[in-house]
Amino acid sequence: MLLVPDEFRDQLRAAHDDAWLSAVQVQAALRAAGLRPTRQRIALGRLLFGNRHRHVTAADLHGDALDAGSPLSLATVYNTLNQFADAGLLRRISINGERSYFDTDVGDHHHFYIDAEDRILNIPAGAVALDRLPLPPDGYEITKVDLVVHLTRVAERAARQLSKADPATSAVPPEIDPL
Ligand SMILES: [Zn+2]
Repeated sequence: MLLVPDEFRDQLRAAHDDAWLSAVQVQAALRAAGLRPTRQRIALGRLLFGNRHRHVTAADLHGDALDAGSPLSLATVYNTLNQFADAGLLRRISINGERSYFDTDVGDHHHFYIDAEDRILNIPAGAVALDRLPLPPDGYEITKVDLVVHLTRVAERAARQLSKADPATSAVPPEIDPL
């Protein structure tokens, strides 16, 4: 895997305050990551790297690209996101092995995932203490730990347990907010 030099990562992070990076800045970042700055990569890079910490799916970014006047196919967007992730410009987060999010912050942190809302929230790295990890199998070493903590709204869980306990009364009781 190609790694982005730290100074570029800092520049990208510093630029997160601005709404947009210039095409020249994105070109430089792509080159530093070992990627040829094609038109599609620059267009998508400007949408991604100039923004604050975001977690996007290929479909989200595809919508952004269309809104910004870049008529790229969803497949191109998906491939480009994976290339950015392979080059260390983005971090890939897989949820339940099927849905991929791409995180614009490649720094150390973990995530909450709200299943019912398909939403990701950040957990700062310092908020999680992992003091015992399993030994890796022979011939392997642990390179990083990605933690996804799944969340359910308390009211939803209560309603589900209630309808499971007595299927005849599947209606949500009035004191619980129906969602
Ligand atoms: Zn994140």
